[in-house]
Amino acid sequence: MSVKSISLGGKGAARLRRGHPWIYRSDVLSVGPDVLGGDLVCVRLPDGKFAGYATWSDHGQLSGRMTPIGPDVADPEASFLHMVTQAVARRKGRPAACRLINGDADGLPGLIVDRYGPGLSIQALTQAAARRQDAIVERLLACTGARVVVARNDVKVRAFEGLPMERGVLVSDPGVDPADIVVEMHGLRLRYDLLDGQKTGGFLDQTDNRVAAAAVAHGDALDCFCYDGGFSLHLAAAGCNVTAVDSSGPALARLTRRAEDNGLEKKITTVEENVFDLLRTYERDGRRFDTIVLDPPAFAKSRDSVDAGRRAYKEINLRGLKLLRHGGVLVTCSCSAHMDRAGFEHMLSEAAGDARRFVRILDRRSAAPDHPTLVTAPETDYLKVLIAEAH
Ligand code: SAH
Repeated sequence: MSVKSISLGGKGAARLRRGHPWIYRSDVLSVGPDVLGGDLVCVRLPDGKFAGYATWSDHGQLSGRMTPIGPDVADPEASFLHMVTQAVARRKGRPAACRLINGDADGLPGLIVDRYGPGLSIQALTQAAARRQDAIVERLLACTGARVVVARNDVKVRAFEGLPMERGVLVSDPGVDPADIVVEMHGLRLRYDLLDGQKTGGFLDQTDNRVAAAAVAHGDALDCFCYDGGFSLHLAAAGCNVTAVDSSGPALARLTRRAEDNGLEKKITTVEENVFDLLRTYERDGRRFDTIVLDPPAFAKSRDSVDAGRRAYKEINLRGLKLLRHGGVLVTCSCSAHMDRAGFEHMLSEAAGDARRFVRILDRRSAAPDHPTLVTAPETDYLKVLIAEAH
């Protein structure tokens, strides 16, 4: 089999040596005349030596993404698909809703697959993943036994690859409605809409953190940025009286339905408001809580917004700490890849100082283990969660 290949310049080779899997177009010296967007290509160093296999895109600044496929494989294409099976096997023991494939970290750049019981939600975000989508789905059906598959390719990053925005059902089954799937886990019935929910249907990265939060939560709880109530439901089931806040009415309607599914509607009150405003109002009115969860959207979305992001994190953490009763629990999260762990803890230490609270960190957490990360790509370790006690 003739192997298509590309060659790196010195800068690209140096970047590769540091281990980051991405190859920028400006770091590529030459591209074989037969190479097409979506191909699996052999990457060569300036001296012609084999550096590995990468997926190739002919659109945008990011041209290549390295895979762990080794030099001796007879059929790199088969190895690529085999990684789908391996990724699924890696999730053994995970709950019924979990991430099955986490892109680069599973060796499958641009491919995200989440499982919600009998349903799968797939995102093919690169040309290589998109071209192989049918084969990937076939492989997934074989190794998971799933009955429906939805494509959530309505993600902006697809535009960088010249791919259209698409959302739809790829595999259907009269017995499973992808817009209404109920998964039982952690003693709860969790309803998901794979077609309309955020991301692939929900935020699976927080799965284990919700359980950890519920283990220490008590009393009156405030769940800020609650979305469809992942934290609220766990806290209510653990006995808390929960006030759940989000600016999205549809998210709160979903939360209410999920609370009813679990007989927890009396334990959860929803408030449709801007969290920043509500925290200020509660402070003024003297409302106090025993447990507060802060799980905002990424405030630092780019390198340029890190400072503004840090200020926003500090504001909600400072206000949150002021609302906590003595001995209260704070569960504070950041999903901004541009803010690292040290920066996040520094922010909390400043908020604790300003609030004059003695804050003890009990647990430093990250995304669930079905979201593996790459040590050479620190941004893949984006989710930081601190569980702390304030006195
Ligand atoms: N905690 C959730 C995920 C939160 S996603 C879980 O465990 O699944 C972030 C949520 O913040 C979204 O639902 C969004 O509607 C909400 N949001 C964003 N900015 C907000 C603001 N200023 N005030 C209130 N809610 C906000």
